[in-house]
Amino acid sequence: MQPQHDVIVIGAGISGLYQLHTLRQRGFKVRVFETGTGVGGTWYWNRYPGARFDSESYSYGYSFSKELLDEWDWTEHFSPQPKTLEYLNFVADKLDLRRDIQFNARVAAAHWREETRDWHVTLDDGSEHVARFLVTAIGPLSTPTWPKIEGIDSFGGVSCHTARYPKEPIDFTGKKVAVIGTGATGIQTIQEVAKTAGTLTVFQRTPNWAAPLHNATISKAEMAEIRTQYPDILKRCQETFSCFLHTPDSRAALEVTPAEREAHWEKLYGSKGFGMWQGNFRDILVDRKANALVSEFVARKIRERVKDPATAEKLIPKNHGFGTRRVPLETRYFEVYNQPNVRLVDIKETPIERITPNGLQTSAESFDFDIIIYATGFDAITGSFDKIDLRGTDGRTLKDTWTGGPKTWLGVQVEGFPNMFMVMGPHTALGNIPRSIEYNVEWVTDVIAHMRDRGLTRAECRPEGVKEWTDHVVALGEGLLSNEVDSWMTGINRNVDGKTVRTVARYSGSAPAYRARCDAVATGGYREMALS
Ligand code: NAP
Repeated sequence: MQPQHDVIVIGAGISGLYQLHTLRQRGFKVRVFETGTGVGGTWYWNRYPGARFDSESYSYGYSFSKELLDEWDWTEHFSPQPKTLEYLNFVADKLDLRRDIQFNARVAAAHWREETRDWHVTLDDGSEHVARFLVTAIGPLSTPTWPKIEGIDSFGGVSCHTARYPKEPIDFTGKKVAVIGTGATGIQTIQEVAKTAGTLTVFQRTPNWAAPLHNATISKAEMAEIRTQYPDILKRCQETFSCFLHTPDSRAALEVTPAEREAHWEKLYGSKGFGMWQGNFRDILVDRKANALVSEFVARKIRERVKDPATAEKLIPKNHGFGTRRVPLETRYFEVYNQPNVRLVDIKETPIERITPNGLQTSAESFDFDIIIYATGFDAITGSFDKIDLRGTDGRTLKDTWTGGPKTWLGVQVEGFPNMFMVMGPHTALGNIPRSIEYNVEWVTDVIAHMRDRGLTRAECRPEGVKEWTDHVVALGEGLLSNEVDSWMTGINRNVDGKTVRTVARYSGSAPAYRARCDAVATGGYREMALS
């Protein structure tokens, strides 16, 4: 079978859409395969109540097209999921992307063929497709994980995972609802469901340090003002550590007076978005004493906001400090526990023993529910790669290649997987993700165009490059308090076999440093790669 396409892209989320657009603009024949029935990726699947951005909307949208920036109005500082999905559909229509996307098409396997220097891709339906290049745009948080709890299939009511939430909204009015999981997703879900549910019971294994989002609507006049500021907003995103509008304070928490610390933390706690996490003193994520102080500040806030002291204590994390896991942003989350219809169950004290036809059973009590929502997270970063039978030279699988943690070159290539490029793969800068995506996508498009223009048909990273980059990524993580904590960011997911040992799958350096490194490769004519 001859190559039918120049490039096959897996996924039609923010990455895949932009990858398709940039490659098509450079004259490539591209085919995108997408499991869902529409575009949007994360924003297509995560329809759970309360799902919304944690980044400022105007810092999150695509930046490459003035036309898109001019024509799209954000209506809230932190866009809710339906509006974001509408935005991504608007982009797909505007750029006429759909004609090159096949929906309902899950890539089951992708095998490299050395003799023809191409990728042989098989979909779930058995159809086969061939392309010179393969781009994975499958997202770091896209494979949901259900908890391993006995009897999970026996429940007779309505149940769903937040990342597979039904398109038709569920009506909670008067219903007995359970939410399992209290990460960023669970927190957004809980604060929304609590508004209408008859009763809401939250099953919490580990509390998280959440900070206020302070969302607000954006008026037409305000949007017009934001539009004039786009150049500055986007420039700022390019300059900050993680591409957010927020940037760490250059002072250390331990070098200012207690009064100055308190004033800064009050200001951050009252400000929009990730300020409390990303705009904090420079030492809170690396210095135990500084971290203990900021954790105590946030704990105090929780004690002030939750009326029942015993419930407040349960909501205060004890096994990790503030900011060492991804900080969920909330809107009156803690106040939810003051409502008479809401109850918090600490499942470290009384573990869930099984799901039953009527609800669930803990070690202490039997519960009846109409609805159970699993907000139990994702097989993060490498999980979506593991689900595809990806084989490189000599038939070696990617999963085997990454035993013990991913090994990559710049997060975009893997040794033994020629002509495969990853967008938002392991070891890339995540942060305010569309900003990182745009960079990654453009870099990949440039290298593919560079090869075509020179009649080159094979690109592979070099073993020494992989070692250097992987060692660098591991070294960057040293000293970070977050690397001493179990979370998806350190590769832990006890619902997945083999994900019980911490790995370094995230690049924790700055986005500008990442871009500088990748730019140097491009300006050096990609000599660091083996091109032939
Ligand atoms: P998560 O942070 O991994 O949280 C999963 C939750 O489920 C945790 O509370 C976990 O408890 C619990 N859990 C897992 N297995 C369980 C089990 N067997 N029994 C009981 N509880 C169990 O996942 P997430 O909340 O979906 O968030 C993942 C990431 O997605 C976030 O960190 C963020 O990066 C992204 N996200 C972004 C937004 C946004 O931008 N607006 C919104 C939502 C999510 P343990 O902690 O004890 O494991």
